[in-house]
Amino acid sequence: MQPMKLSHRLLRVADFVPEKAILLDVGSDHAYLPIYLLQKGKISHAIAGEVVKGPYHSAKNNVAQQGLTNQIEVRLADGLDAFEVTDAVSTIVIAGMGGRLIASILEKGKTKLSGVERLILQPNNREDELRSWLMTHNFQLIAEAILEDSGKIYEILVVEKGKKMLSQKDLRFGPLLRKEQSPIFLKKWQKERNKLNQALKQIPQQKTEVRSVIQENIQEIKEVLHVSE
Ligand code: SAM
Repeated sequence: MQPMKLSHRLLRVADFVPEKAILLDVGSDHAYLPIYLLQKGKISHAIAGEVVKGPYHSAKNNVAQQGLTNQIEVRLADGLDAFEVTDAVSTIVIAGMGGRLIASILEKGKTKLSGVERLILQPNNREDELRSWLMTHNFQLIAEAILEDSGKIYEILVVEKGKKMLSQKDLRFGPLLRKEQSPIFLKKWQKERNKLNQALKQIPQQKTEVRSVIQENIQEIKEVLHVSE
């Protein structure tokens, strides 16, 4: 049997899973991530949660084909309903969904998070809303990553319990990503700036309120990227 190959995006997510973690992967359509981590010997037990029947069956089939049914339990469940406190889950991954959906999954199951040590989240958008939910619920960013995979830019947020206030800029750009200023970070925000500049051109001069919101947005990007023009 060939060992599982992961996309660059999921490989970066996998890097943040601690050795010997008891993992819950929420929205685990093919169970690729838990299979990979098991085969690498990084973890020895995982739950793959999936709410839609088709992906749930493909996760189940993949786990069976790899001979890992004793180590990976595939459960048909909505969000954090996939685990009980007695499962002793230590790390939860929620990847490949919108930031708002990830926040709503966390919100719905928040009473179950007290025993969980680490959340590894990979929102496809609305990272600011997710950071805001995390801050409000006393989760602190311990790492952030930004990467490009098949022409798309993704962010990964890694949090553990802790209290840290984030500014509006931190929520939007990521406090650690903003400090690091990696080439992909610069690329993302230059692209966003170009998009906003294009949008501004389409908006009539008399729509002053809309224009000034966009202008402030552009100005904030320029400040964070340390560019004057
Ligand atoms: N996590 C994988 C990844 O990053 O490649 C799969 C991402 S896929 C785009 C999103 C998956 O999450 C889908 O299979 C979808 O059915 C599942 N999903 C969406 N909402 C969910 C929820 N509330 N609970 C469990 N799974 C969910």
